[in-house]
Amino acid sequence: MGFKTVYEDCDILVVGGGMGGCGAAFEARHWARDMKIVVAEKANIDRSGAVAQGLYAINCYMGMQWDENQPEDHVRYARNDLMGIVREDLAYDMARHVDSAVHKFEEWGLPLMRDPETGHYQREGKWQIMIHGESYKPIVAEAARKSVDKIYNRIMVTHLLMDENQPNRVGGAIGFNVRTGGLHVFRAKAVIVGAGGASHIFKPRSVGEGMGRTWYAPWSSASAYALPIMVGAKMTQMENRIVLCRFKDGYGPVGAYFLHLKTYTQNAYGDEYESKWYQHTKDMVGEYIDHHPTPTCLRNHAFLQEVAAGRGPIHMVTKEAFQDPHKETVGWENFLGMTVGQAVVWASQNIDPKYINPELTTSEPYVMGSHATCSGAWASGPEDISPDEYYWGYNRMMTVEGLFGAGDALGGTAHAFSSGSFTEGRLAAKAAVKFIRDHANDKINVSDKQIEDRRKEIYKPLENYQVGRNEIVGGTVSPSYILPLHGLQRLEKIMDEYAGGIGVNYMTNEPLLKFGLEKLKILQEDLEHIGAEDLHQLQRAWELKHRAIASECVTQHTLFRKETRWPGYYYRGDHLKLDDENWHVLTLSRRDPESGEWEMEKAPVYHIVD
Ligand SMILES: Cc1cc2nc3c(=O)[nH]c(=O)nc-3n(C[C@H](O)[C@H](O)[C@H](O)COP(=O)(O)OP(=O)(O)OC[C@H]3O[C@@H](n4cnc5c(N)ncnc54)[C@H](O)[C@@H]3O)c2cc1C
Repeated sequence: MGFKTVYEDCDILVVGGGMGGCGAAFEARHWARDMKIVVAEKANIDRSGAVAQGLYAINCYMGMQWDENQPEDHVRYARNDLMGIVREDLAYDMARHVDSAVHKFEEWGLPLMRDPETGHYQREGKWQIMIHGESYKPIVAEAARKSVDKIYNRIMVTHLLMDENQPNRVGGAIGFNVRTGGLHVFRAKAVIVGAGGASHIFKPRSVGEGMGRTWYAPWSSASAYALPIMVGAKMTQMENRIVLCRFKDGYGPVGAYFLHLKTYTQNAYGDEYESKWYQHTKDMVGEYIDHHPTPTCLRNHAFLQEVAAGRGPIHMVTKEAFQDPHKETVGWENFLGMTVGQAVVWASQNIDPKYINPELTTSEPYVMGSHATCSGAWASGPEDISPDEYYWGYNRMMTVEGLFGAGDALGGTAHAFSSGSFTEGRLAAKAAVKFIRDHANDKINVSDKQIEDRRKEIYKPLENYQVGRNEIVGGTVSPSYILPLHGLQRLEKIMDEYAGGIGVNYMTNEPLLKFGLEKLKILQEDLEHIGAEDLHQLQRAWELKHRAIASECVTQHTLFRKETRWPGYYYRGDHLKLDDENWHVLTLSRRDPESGEWEMEKAPVYHIVD
């Protein structure tokens, strides 16, 4: 296929221009006026990633200038919410720097709401501050754009490239332009992956006509995990998927409702139900149920139990709060700047929350490292606070030399959110600059053969389709290829039924996970025969391949951890209790890039904050 090849040699390549990527782009220039910094983004950084549509709150702000919270408090909070397990060094490091990122956003024009009495930023909750955030992403993207040498929009990065002079060292990345089809080869001394989390690996509640609607961005296609996994980087806590309690059908967020509007939930009969499940939950997880605030997964657990007991649906009680015109406005505006679809769903279903308490539901599971769970790559922490086992020279560097990550890509740093992801990008970039300076004599060697092999692989779905299409006269079913949508639905069904999705009430066990792994393996074989009709479908094909490999990792981790650490996110039916004696650990995996075999291990959880 006659697509043009474009070569770009640079010092730092940022893969994905979302919150983490923009933070990396901005900070890299601060430390390296002399380096060539390039961003490769599959959409357009002005409106890409999970913040594309805007946000209504910045969920991670300490407020150290007013002594509202200290970084230690945030570590305790994240650790508590994650049932005792986070990378405390990474969490502390993010928290101590996050305020300065938020101050930058304000300086760049993001309107932050202020409390009229104190003059402080308007709090939505202990950690969240409220913003007029429709243009959050374009504002942050502008800072990135002004900092770098070049932004390549519309480049779907499919693989990382490896340096052939040294083992286990990254040498760049490769992908294709989703509009022109051109092959883009980036040779870089350091790569920072900020390619977002993973939606659509489990079957979503929205199917058929609503299928595109998921809570996590539908375009977050697990590249942040697949790219490092494919080159043998270690991953951590990939079993720690998240399930969200959200407004039904539109996945509208509930944070502002709970925290700011002070709405609350009740069952179908108007009863409070969480306290009923106290003893039941205590029998499973012990004293974690007595922690304050109640860990999110345990609140989900009560929700799921109440519905399973036949007293659903669960409603959000909005009728009282919405009698106050100010709160009513806040309630609607919360959606209009962030999840406009929820407002449209309510309008279409005749739901006015002033008169009807809307239904809530629990979402399908998602995998991501920046929101309220901590799946992602295993990365080095900062030198001043990380214990030896968490430190190998460069902050936020993965176990592949020169390969860094930020945001959803990195494991262990829950509750970073948009501001924390941007902050992590900054930290990663600063370390990447140091890495390049320390290795000034390294010559990156990416051979023509490596590029040629990848080129063939990248375009193969187009060829599969072109050849296989001749065997049929019409329709979408062919004897020799499957289409990306077919493959996606098969993946979602496998993950749903075997790895603990909505269809099985988030329940799984060892036999199910082993069956699931077998089926995922067969799916991977079939994905060699995926057919792409055009460039759009070629992107879908690669997104699916990334999702499939990340799903395998999630399933391996879920199989490895023999306990139910986060009831409400998923359950191991064969190990229904939390087991601190054996599993108060971080789980690590590595996929051998040659054999495709997985190795699992445990890493200690160091509590560096008391
Ligand atoms: C529905 C929702 C609501 C949220 N609400 C809040 C909130 O109220 N407050 C808050 O602070 N945070 C919120 N968050 C969290 C916040 O959006 C994330 O923490 C943050 O965006 C993560 O940053 P990231 O850089 O890891 O990923 P993203 O910002 O998602 O960026 C990933 C980027 O990588 C690109 N990309 C993906 N794959 C490839 C590839 N293969 N090649 C090239 N580019 C690629 C994407 O296009 C995207 O630009 C919310 C998230 C969601 C989904």
